[in-house]
Amino acid sequence: MLETDKMADSTPVKIAIVGAGMGGLASALALAKSGHSDITVYEMASGLGFVGAGIQLAPNMARILDRLGCWAQIAAEAVQCGETSIREGSTDKELGHVKLDYIQKTYGYPHMVGHRASLAGAMYEGCLNEPGIKFAFGSTISNVQFSPTPSFTLTPVKGEPHRVECDVLLGCDGVKSNTRVSMLKALGEIADVKDTGQAAYRIMLTRDQMKNDPELLALLDADRVTRWIGEKRHLIAYPIDNKNIYNISSAQPDVNFAGAANSTYTTKGSKSAMLQVYGDFCPMIHKMLNLVPEGEVVEWKLRVHEPLTTWVHGSTALVGDACHPTLPHLAQGAAQAIEDAAVLGVTLAPKRIADRKPETIYKALKIYEKVRKARAEALVELAAESGRGMHLGAGKAKEERDKVFAALKAGNGPVPDKWADADVQKMIYGLDVVEEAEKACKDETFLAKLDS
Ligand SMILES: Cc1cc2nc3c(=O)[nH]c(=O)nc-3n(C[C@H](O)[C@H](O)[C@H](O)COP(=O)(O)OP(=O)(O)OC[C@H]3O[C@@H](n4cnc5c(N)ncnc54)[C@H](O)[C@@H]3O)c2cc1C
Repeated sequence: MLETDKMADSTPVKIAIVGAGMGGLASALALAKSGHSDITVYEMASGLGFVGAGIQLAPNMARILDRLGCWAQIAAEAVQCGETSIREGSTDKELGHVKLDYIQKTYGYPHMVGHRASLAGAMYEGCLNEPGIKFAFGSTISNVQFSPTPSFTLTPVKGEPHRVECDVLLGCDGVKSNTRVSMLKALGEIADVKDTGQAAYRIMLTRDQMKNDPELLALLDADRVTRWIGEKRHLIAYPIDNKNIYNISSAQPDVNFAGAANSTYTTKGSKSAMLQVYGDFCPMIHKMLNLVPEGEVVEWKLRVHEPLTTWVHGSTALVGDACHPTLPHLAQGAAQAIEDAAVLGVTLAPKRIADRKPETIYKALKIYEKVRKARAEALVELAAESGRGMHLGAGKAKEERDKVFAALKAGNGPVPDKWADADVQKMIYGLDVVEEAEKACKDETFLAKLDS
């Protein structure tokens, strides 16, 4: 850090971050690395509490985490994917196969898969090493006000609710974001939570559970992401935790949430219902689903919301799922939250907001929005489109899709499972958002528009 980048010690910018999820942890770390020294992360849960599940660690995420100093730790436990196979769920017949080993050479980082706890844990440890970051667990934030500077009600687990003021507020509070609700109210806008009609099972099978079945062990020992598709449903699976765990997540119609309130995001599922949903999938999949212990089936509702006209109001900005919740079908939701954080690390760098004036902070946040909003929203749409393609039932559209798969097998053409398509990868992994943010900070035309 340059000497000129440091804030005058007497007047550090006070930054409040709501939520210690992927976006909140990455934002805290990026801002501390940029030189900020008064950052508090407010988290309603009593600890990090990440669901036991795997996550794809795409190169655009890895590049940022490496700069933030925590990628090596994550990569040490993660599994590098050499290939992906897209298969018909009912027969296990391979529809398409894509080699992924070119990714490291092309984008500087491999495509890896890992454990959510390892990703969050490494970012959290990185934060704990930064004296400028404090954590307030068991702190629920509500009733955000935006003017003249941000303030909010903090309801602690122990103690009385009270108001807190800050210079910059980042709402990293996920798809159910209270910050977004307050922002929309203040702006007089409506952007409802949208029902996707989909839900997901998340399953982790241990090596011990799979050890007596050579067919299943072969899956665990491969460096492969496998997706089995069928009408309105799919399963995606890969080994994590140094191949000690086989992680499976699914997408299927959300029939088990019928009549559930909008605030319901998880439900204890029934094993027989799960087996029924995948009833016509092949016997190998049944063997895996049968390994899930009775009583341990949990189903997640997949919700998104309508695009927002803005992510910024005054000195407050939304980050991650709070402003661009993305269906998991492109494996980019967390990666995009981490891109948000990296960009904020540039646009909110101490040297850029040294006067602490709300108008200066507003401009820095608008540059963040300029770099991030169109890209993140394009990926929201691409993820939904990829899901639609994977979930086709018999008919013309499926026939067309299967022709594309056949062309792929013959050696050319796009990949219908879009995360594995080379052009999509180029668009997602090939862009360095930090470079984009640096450029945007010098974009005189855009800056002049903000002044007018
Ligand atoms: C099945 C599935 C698979 C996925 N797979 C991938 C993948 O492979 N790769 C990938 O990149 N992404 C993936 N994603 C997406 C990814 O998980 C999310 O996009 C990411 O976790 C969003 O991070 P976030 O920080 O915005 O929100 P969250 O992780 O939801 O964090 C929000 C935090 O805010 C806290 N909070 C909420 N409200 C308040 C409040 N009022 N006060 C205080 N704290 C509050 C919450 O407790 C939580 O800790 C997947 C998602 C699903 C559902």
